Amino acid sequence: MRVAVYPGSFDPITNGHLDIIERASRMFDELLVAIARNSSKEGLFSFDERADLIQKVTAGISNVRVTSFEGLLVDFVRETSAQFIVRGLRAVSDFDYEYAMYQMNYEMSGGADTIFLLASRDYSYLSSTIIKEFARHGRDVAEYTPAQVNAALLNKFGHKK
Ligand code: ADP
Repeated sequence: MRVAVYPGSFDPITNGHLDIIERASRMFDELLVAIARNSSKEGLFSFDERADLIQKVTAGISNVRVTSFEGLLVDFVRETSAQFIVRGLRAVSDFDYEYAMYQMNYEMSGGADTIFLLASRDYSYLSSTIIKEFARHGRDVAEYTPAQVNAALLNKFGHKK
C-alpha cells in the first residue's frame, strides 16, 4: 500500500487544494488529507467544519480519507505508516520554507519522502487567505472554490447566496 499524507490548514479548502488532491489520489493507494490542529492562528472555520467541507467535495474520490492531527506532522506520518507527504507548490515564495520542511521531515520521520506537485496554472495564485478576504466583503468566490465552500463562506460572513 502506498499511503500519502496531504497536510494543511484547509481554512477552507479551495479549488487549488482540490486539484492537488485529485492529482495525488491517482498516484497513491490511499491519500490522507490531514487538517493540522495545532496552528497558532485562529481559523475562520472550526476543524469540524473544515473536515465536513473537505469530506463533501472529495466524496467522489474513493481513496481519499479526511483526518486531522495535533503536534508534529512527522509523528502523525509515523502513526499512520504513510511513506509519503504531499505538498503543493505555488510561487517561488513557497519554496524556501517547503525545502526546509522537507529536509526536517525526511530526517525526523525516518525517511518519509515529500512529493511536491506544482500548482496548476489556473490556481497558482489562489490561497485560502485571499478567498476569505473577498468573501468577507460579499464577493462570490464560486470560480475559486467548490460550490459548498462558496456557500459556507458567504453564510459565515452573513451574506445571502
Ligand atoms: P499551510 O497552512 O500548511 O500552508 P494550506 O492549507 O494553506 O496549509 O495549504 C496546504 C498545502 O496546499 C500546501 O502545500 C500549499 O502549498 C498547498 N496549496 C495551497 N493552495 C494551493 C494552490 N492554489 N495550488 C496548489 N497548492 C496549493
